[in-house]
Amino acid sequence: MPRTYATLPRLYVAPDLAPGAAIGLDKGQSNYLINVLRLKKGGQVVVFNGRDGAWLAAILTAGRKGAELVPLERIARQSARSDLWYFFAPVKSARLDYMVQKATEMGAGHIQPVMTRRTLASRVNMDRLGANVIEAAEQCEVLAIPIVQEPVALGRLIGTWQDHHAGRRLVFADEAATPASPIERLKTIAGDPLGLIVGPEGGFAEEERALLLAQKFVVPVSLGPRVLRADTAAVAALAVIQASIGDWR
Ligand code: SAH
Repeated sequence: MPRTYATLPRLYVAPDLAPGAAIGLDKGQSNYLINVLRLKKGGQVVVFNGRDGAWLAAILTAGRKGAELVPLERIARQSARSDLWYFFAPVKSARLDYMVQKATEMGAGHIQPVMTRRTLASRVNMDRLGANVIEAAEQCEVLAIPIVQEPVALGRLIGTWQDHHAGRRLVFADEAATPASPIERLKTIAGDPLGLIVGPEGGFAEEERALLLAQKFVVPVSLGPRVLRADTAAVAALAVIQASIGDWR
């Protein structure tokens, strides 16, 4: 993304993006541009839809019934979605928003809630997760919107791993792992398709930990001598992955 556009607001829109193809904004987006950012007719924003790259767009109309944008030119090519899967045991909703936003900023391409024995949330608001991913993508200039997958029970995820994730390693943030450098451990699997799993606030149940450790595709890593909160562990693990074998290199 050329830095000259970095100061412009970024907006996710659903329609295809093509020069001159006007796009009507919903009330929330119109209100944000017109009333919050006080942009006028002709004002410029960056729009993206997750498929056609990023486009410079101008405000065509800014009426009370909503604003309209018109794409002018493409300013960044569409990037591929990250292949890093992030599995997490959903925690209470406010923290859940945080975890999904951070996973997006840290480069997860697929985000899937995993129901474990000590998972506090009984159901997951998928629309809310989707909105958080889009908000995070707008903020951190991710063009390929991470896909939020339907929640899955841990046993089913592991039991069907070869069907959906053959060849993918599952990095297991294991708070009971013997302390060792996660970076050294991760370097042994550099280049392999990856997933990361982080447990709930209450940790994995003994039999869940045993199930994970029994899988050849699981790579347990320690995140140091202290017990981290689930959301801290998620960001720490994603940072270590990206810095050692991911897209921060
Ligand atoms: N209270 C729980 C700890 C759960 S912490 C207990 O004592 O069992 C929530 C999740 O964060 C854990 O399931 C694990 O995935 C991760 N985590 C926390 N600290 C960690 C550490 N030092 N190393 C690896 N993973 C950790």
